[in-house]
Amino acid sequence: MPREASGAGSKSEAGADHRIGIGYDSHRFASGRALILGGVRIESEVGLAGHSDADAVCHAITDAILGAAGLGDIGAMFPDTEPANKDRDSIEMLGAAVNRVAAAGYTVANVDVSVIAEIPRLTPHREQIRARLAMALGVDSSVVSVKGKSNEGMGWIGRREGLACIAVATLIRKSE
Ligand SMILES: [Zn+2]
Repeated sequence: MPREASGAGSKSEAGADHRIGIGYDSHRFASGRALILGGVRIESEVGLAGHSDADAVCHAITDAILGAAGLGDIGAMFPDTEPANKDRDSIEMLGAAVNRVAAAGYTVANVDVSVIAEIPRLTPHREQIRARLAMALGVDSSVVSVKGKSNEGMGWIGRREGLACIAVATLIRKSE
């Protein structure tokens, strides 16, 4: 049987082993809290509630890369019962996940994130967020995509109760 038809996944002739992971996160808006997305503090009347710094972008990406490598999820890696994780910097958590994934033999190829929210407007902060995430992921910002999307006023996101993020990450097995 030809190799392409074996259905054994995405192992190419060059031996590159690609893995894809998805991550989702949501946080409730809260007054008196900072709004931090992708490691960037955004001026806003409302922030996000959470045990850590509630950076939903970082949390979704962390889950995507851990998921791609089959290494569990952010909740298992950083339990919110652990006092050390209170108000923790999520960029640092993302970096720790990247290190764990690297130890398993993978490097990040690209990341794509959608932030679903009525507020804030993401566009003015997009390049700064991409750069901050790229630094934490150890990649060039050209392979980090950040997109903002409203929910057309529908449901809890439409009522501005909070925001949600969906992230997809691709990993490549490092060549020996
Ligand atoms: Zn979160």
